[in-house]
Amino acid sequence: MQLAGRTAVVTGGESGIGRATARLLARAGVRVFVGDVQLLPENRDEYQQLGIASRFCDVRTEEPIRQLIDDAVAATGRLDILVNNAGIAMVKPIIEVSESDWDACMDTNVKSAFFGCKHAVKHMRRLGGGSIVNTASNAGLLPRAHDPVYSISKQALVGLTKSLALCHSMDRIRINAVCPGPVGETGMVNADLDQAVDRDAAARKYIAASPLAQAWGRMIAPEEVAESIFYLVSDAALMVTGTCIAIDGGKSLGVPPSVG
Ligand code: NAD
Repeated sequence: MQLAGRTAVVTGGESGIGRATARLLARAGVRVFVGDVQLLPENRDEYQQLGIASRFCDVRTEEPIRQLIDDAVAATGRLDILVNNAGIAMVKPIIEVSESDWDACMDTNVKSAFFGCKHAVKHMRRLGGGSIVNTASNAGLLPRAHDPVYSISKQALVGLTKSLALCHSMDRIRINAVCPGPVGETGMVNADLDQAVDRDAAARKYIAASPLAQAWGRMIAPEEVAESIFYLVSDAALMVTGTCIAIDGGKSLGVPPSVG
């Protein structure tokens, strides 16, 4: 899995799955360019040591993503990898979802990937190929009752992945998705646990929804999702495109077996 010397852009790379992915790629010698709306002081020293360039980039609009990608190409002369990872939750029944909630969720989780793919494809075509991974969700495979608009956004992202994978196969551009969850030590899950009345009970509920998480007694780690992203962008997956890999401990398989 020789990735040294390649160039990657990772959105939402300051926290959770994106941070684990940026670290893993950088440790393999990839030049990593992160775009995020939060630049965490806790990442600064490590990112500097690993050569990860991180900047403010709001993925909901086209220009910052175009600039992030074009600048990575200008700095390194190539673009091998794009990870469209930035995302937000939207845990509300449909009657409580405002138009701005809908737009925030769709723009962050789906429109951003459209912008990312559009500008990455532009370079990858010219440079002879590349690999794009979209961070979808188990909710992109099987909708969930508690967050319908989030589920819709992730199913749209799965659709975008398959559609563009087909369109750009002849350009040797591979486009795949990972469908994780429940992933602990992420901003998304931590925010939810922090506002729970009983944090431990809320964590147990996450774990109970995923058969393997329950079997192991813990949530999935961001690094375990990053490993699958690493595989998908590597040459080990040279003939893999349009797939959506569930890293959800079987959560999207169906009704879980009762444990204990
Ligand atoms: P996280 O909150 O730790 O990471 C998300 C990152 O995206 C953050 O750094 C955040 O600042 C950034 N971001 C949010 N809005 C942005 C914007 N407009 N522009 C740029 N960056 C923005 O949570 P995470 O779980 O690591 O989330 C990463 C991806 O994984 C998301 O797409 C999420 O939907 C998906 N996901 C997470 C889980 C889980 O259980 N944590 C499950 C399924 C899918």
